[in-house]
Amino acid sequence: MKKFVVENRIWDKEESLPRAELAALQGAKLKETVARVQNVPLYKEAFSKSGIAPEKINSLDDLKRLPFTTKADLRGHYPLGMLAVDRSEVARYHASSGTTGKPTMVAYTQNDLKTWANLCARFLTGGGLLPEHSVQIAFGYGLFTGGFGLHYGVERVGASVIPAAAGNTPKQIMLMMDMQVDALVCTPSYALSISEFILQSDISRSALNLKHAHFGGEPWTEDMRVRIEDEMGILCFNNYGLSEVIGPGVSGECAVRDGMHISEDAFIVECINPETLEPVAPGEEGELVFTSLCKEAMPIIRYRTRDIASLNLEPCACGRTTARMSRVTGRSDDMLIIKGVNVYPSQVEQALLRVEGTAPHYLIEVDRPDRKDVATVKVEMTEKSFSSSMKELQELKDKIDRAIQGITGLRMNVELVSPNSLERFIGKAQRVVDRRRG
Ligand SMILES: [Zn+2]
Repeated sequence: MKKFVVENRIWDKEESLPRAELAALQGAKLKETVARVQNVPLYKEAFSKSGIAPEKINSLDDLKRLPFTTKADLRGHYPLGMLAVDRSEVARYHASSGTTGKPTMVAYTQNDLKTWANLCARFLTGGGLLPEHSVQIAFGYGLFTGGFGLHYGVERVGASVIPAAAGNTPKQIMLMMDMQVDALVCTPSYALSISEFILQSDISRSALNLKHAHFGGEPWTEDMRVRIEDEMGILCFNNYGLSEVIGPGVSGECAVRDGMHISEDAFIVECINPETLEPVAPGEEGELVFTSLCKEAMPIIRYRTRDIASLNLEPCACGRTTARMSRVTGRSDDMLIIKGVNVYPSQVEQALLRVEGTAPHYLIEVDRPDRKDVATVKVEMTEKSFSSSMKELQELKDKIDRAIQGITGLRMNVELVSPNSLERFIGKAQRVVDRRRG
């Protein structure tokens, strides 16, 4: 199958500024942001408590004097306590999905919406989107920022949108074929469901015109990219964002696909040790922290994302000079501590993708029956492996066992389950059931 070749195009000149010029621009915009957040009681109080005079914040070096913002701060000011403009200036609201209780509301002015669409246009262009393309958006539309964020980003590039929204996989595939869609936007786990459906039906790959896909909304692995690309014969690009910072558009991959370029003229990025809060060295994993530089409605200072990744400040072969972040390898919230070992669900996924005969659908269950942690991974077999002999199934289990131990350093019980028996996700996948909590 012939793969799509991405032309190397850069959307905005701000993506390739000399680093010194970028730092000066960030310093000037930081000053403006600090002035703007004086309208937010949380920041006004935090600044005066730490004796920070807003007029003394003049350059990037002053950033480290400013307080961090956490998810708890945002929850504590639900729904609109973080608003820095009058409510009449707000053009749209979104929210981040709260796993428990109330969501976190976020707000955008008309200018914020323009900025956001432009930031999405940057990474879409980086991943080969051209004005003549049609893009199917299979993200949820609603309070979630994914659907609307990408929708306006695609329109900003000048391409056409098919707002399919998430779910109804047969209809998604019908639209893709009938409309000869060029690009797909969704979560990587939903792309996997779409791909699986195509493989199980008698649809020929040549009936599709799909060239590239832009995935975000959840962490995924390089092995998963290889799998989807091989199955669908397309190029897949990773992008990153979170509603508290703006939504999708914080960063995304270029044609080189060696890290996601952060729009540093719009956000200052830091990577810190989540325990000591000190910066980690480039290339080292830590928690990402973002400060917005362009947002009017809800500017945010040093937001602790809980997302674990590393930064690369080396110039990229594509010509962009902006810092690149690695894939998010986990969330400091999602990290499981099993028998004292730190484990991320993404590591289990990585192990499974390396074993033939398993589908990348799994569920990790953790329990503590006799004050000892017990972890069980339920793994779906493929149709082919499902019909194997008992001996072959035992061998498959042993292989999975070794692969998981090799990557996590931990022994987990492996339970093989029949094809299509685990839940499929159209949004963010839920891969862990931890019964030790509560
Ligand atoms: Zn690049």
